[in-house]
Amino acid sequence: MHESTLEFLICPKCLPKERPLKLSGKRKERGRILSGELYCKACKSAYPISQGVPVLLPAPKGFDRYENPSYLANYFYLHYADLLGQEAKDILFYEGLVEGSDTFLEVGCGPGRLTLEMGRRFTLAVGIDYSFSFLKSALRLLRGKALRFGLPLEGDLAIPISITPPEGWQELSVEFIAADAHNLPFPKDTFGSIASINLIDRIQDPLAALKEMERVLKKKGAHFLIADPFSWSEEFTPRSRWLGGRQRGPFRGRGIENLRRILEGDLNIFSPPLGSITSGEHTWTLRAHENRREIIRSLYLKAKR
Ligand SMILES: [Zn+2]
Repeated sequence: MHESTLEFLICPKCLPKERPLKLSGKRKERGRILSGELYCKACKSAYPISQGVPVLLPAPKGFDRYENPSYLANYFYLHYADLLGQEAKDILFYEGLVEGSDTFLEVGCGPGRLTLEMGRRFTLAVGIDYSFSFLKSALRLLRGKALRFGLPLEGDLAIPISITPPEGWQELSVEFIAADAHNLPFPKDTFGSIASINLIDRIQDPLAALKEMERVLKKKGAHFLIADPFSWSEEFTPRSRWLGGRQRGPFRGRGIENLRRILEGDLNIFSPPLGSITSGEHTWTLRAHENRREIIRSLYLKAKR
């Protein structure tokens, strides 16, 4: 991380109080802090900076399916296939939908490609994800290093792949931070543009995450982009917290319609509400192995205030 990013970071455990973090024991390389510790004086929590990535998770991590090497390989392939000579516009589809130019936050950035590309356009582009493995590999690419992995072929067989980053990414103002979408480690009113792609059906409490995005989104002149396949599953989200796909309750009916109402001011979460809402869809393919691919349709809403 860059030392200047410290100004944007607060302790995720002390929320809703905004407590600053103090940096110690830093080791720097080419302007980037690669290791060190961030400390909250108020609650006495220490957060490591590991391989250049601040790990600001409120609780120690349990098992995360996205840390599995096959998942990582398939998701990196999804984000960076164009750099492997493949024709793929999966995550890059959203590049043209993100608006703004000052501060960008991607909530659930996964392998980080959208955040990286936004670094070309924004003064600061921050990608957060729960999965440290995604972030350390994305940062490796950002620092100009090639990324090698085995793309699942069949059973234990894998195709060796190497992603070579294009020139110039090192110079970008990009940060990758391990953080939880339910406890964003940033002060209120920080980001002029937020995007969250394919996250809200994969977390414990989608409504709490939306409240957090609202908290850190600027009150004026802000842009918001959210996309999801609304693939509700109790594996990730208790049924009572699904934002759609229910027959009864406050979020009965379709998730995209409920989400639109929330952005428009329903439940008083987005205040002031978002407007100028446009919608659309994007179909993408998630690889499992050479002979198995899942076709997924994500619906998006793009809004501003
Ligand atoms: Zn604290």
